[in-house]
Formats: sequence, structure tokens, C-alpha cells
Amino acid sequence: MGSVLQSFDAFQTSLTLPSPLQPFYPNWCGADKVSLFVKRDDAIHPIISGNKWRKLRYVYGDNLPSAMVSFGGGYSNHLHALGYLCHQLGVTLNVIIRGNYHNTPTPMITDLTKWGVHIQYVDRATYKKRNCRNYLATLQAKHPHALIIPEGGSQTLALEGVKDMVDEIDIDFDTVIAPVASGATLAGIINAINSNPMNRRSQRSNSGHLHSVIGIGVLKGEGYLESLVEQFIPASNAKHCKVQSGTALPLSDWCIKHDYHFGGYAKAPPELTAFCNDFNSTMPFDIEPVYSGKAFWAVKDMLAKGSFREQSRIVIVHTGGLQGAR
Ligand SMILES: *Cc1c(COP(=O)(O)O)cnc(C)c1O
Repeated sequence: MGSVLQSFDAFQTSLTLPSPLQPFYPNWCGADKVSLFVKRDDAIHPIISGNKWRKLRYVYGDNLPSAMVSFGGGYSNHLHALGYLCHQLGVTLNVIIRGNYHNTPTPMITDLTKWGVHIQYVDRATYKKRNCRNYLATLQAKHPHALIIPEGGSQTLALEGVKDMVDEIDIDFDTVIAPVASGATLAGIINAINSNPMNRRSQRSNSGHLHSVIGIGVLKGEGYLESLVEQFIPASNAKHCKVQSGTALPLSDWCIKHDYHFGGYAKAPPELTAFCNDFNSTMPFDIEPVYSGKAFWAVKDMLAKGSFREQSRIVIVHTGGLQGAR
């Protein structure tokens, strides 16, 4: 494939940034008691999944590496975004994919192949070593000039890009809601809010209550997901609470809800698929069952249960990911 090489700056200029902040008026029980907004990171680019752009943004930059290595599953939004970016920018990309899709490539893998990405399929045991020092050292020796990027693009650098997303929100808000898998996106949101003292408390509120950040766990991981988030945030920000569904949210910095994973990562029982299909035929934008579908389901459920303070201004981050649903 002949690739059209672009400079990073030219590429960035082609993106829809800041992403739109769209008022959202679902006809859901309880929705009239609050103000809902959707931060449309899914609209940043038709191919690059929203939060994956945020997480990769500062990996690229002045010193573009000549090669990169990264990891993911067969439907990975991260590998898809990375593959497209590397193709556009002329960076050699090697990816390590869990499972053998050699004879049954997913649409994601077919795109990677089209973009000239080098693919290595590994079994689960090998994939498990993706964060081990020795394994990474061997990989680095094999690709001496390559920058190795962790699964999901989740590294400290990713938080800077997520902060840009929060900084773009130009309304006063009470709560931000986003799906959680590796935790870097949620950690980036928490850090962005806590790093700016003006952000820490809602300007609108005379009671000066704290902003809350609510993560929706998309996989089974009570305790585990919190620890993933905590590893990315300074200890002073690490305060969190566990909230049971149905109770009003306490004035907390952040928490993760574990009632909406639907059995685990990428598990999509019929009621979730039906919710997404119905949503996509009636709402002004689309969701998918792995991330955004669970997040919007959670919002609907929490609204019905009266989990939000009346008049709250709630920003739901649409992290993209529609390619994974193909
Ligand atoms: C990867 C991904 C997430 C999860 O983000 P983390 O930073 O890994 O928690 C959420 N939504 C979409 C669409 C994703 O692709």
C-alpha cells in the first residue's frame, strides 16, 4: 500500500479538536432532573478511537521514533489507532497479538495488514509476559530502535493527553463519567481535575462540593481496577470510595462502579446488545457494547435510581471504540 506520509502537525490539524461537547436529552427516567452532556471523543477521527488518540498524543511529537512495538487482543482499539497513526506518519510498527488469528483475521487485523503493520501472534502464556522486564528486554534487543508501548497505550504519558480532553470542557460540571479497563483514562481525568485547584470544586455550587469522577468498570475487577487507577495518580489523589448502586453519591473524588460489566470484558448479553441497537436507532450518535454501551447503560440505571444530585451537570465521555464492534 502506498502510504501518504504526513507530518505529525499536519495530521493533528486534520482532527476534530477540541472534540464537541454535546447536550444530551435521552428520554430516560430521571434524565429531566439533571443536565447531561456528552464529550464526543468518538468524533475526533473516523478511524482513531477517541481515548486512544488522547493516550497516544504525547507519544508522538518532536522526536518521532522510527519504530514502535505494542500489544493487544484481536479487536484492540489501541492497536487500530496506533496502526493507523504509524501508517500515516511513516513509523514501522510491530504488534504482538494474543491468540492466533492467522487464518481468521478480524476486521481490525485486516486493517493492520493493509497499513503495513508487522504482526506476531502469541499464545496466552507468552502474552502474559507483556509487562515482564526480561521479556521486554528481549523484545527491545530484537527491535533496538523501537519505542515499546504498553497494552492499551496506558502509561504515564497517556495521562497528559487525557488532561487535554478535560481542559477542553468549557462548562462548569459536577460529575464526569467514563468507562474503565486499564484505568489510564480515568486516572487522567482525576489528575486533570485535581491538578487545578479551580477545578476541584464546582463553581456553581455554593456548598462547594467536590467534583466527582465515576468510572464504569467494563470488566470484572472490583479492587483490581481501583489499583490500576491508583498506580497512575499521586497518593494525595488516591482517595476513593466504593458506592453501592441505589445510594446517593457521597462527596468523593472518584469511584468505580462494578455493577455494569455484564459478566466481563467484551461480554454482551442480549439485553446490552438490544440497548445499544435501540440507542443507535434513536440517539444522535452511536455506541458499542464493549465500552460506551456499558457506560451509557450505567448512566441510565443510575438516573433511574436517583444516584445524582438534582440539577447536577454530568459529562459522559464517549471514548469511541466503534471499530471494535465490527
Ligand atoms: C481502551 C478503551 C477504553 C478504556 O480505557 P482505559 O484507559 O484502558 O481504561 C474505553 N473506551 C474505549 C472505546 C476504549 O477503546
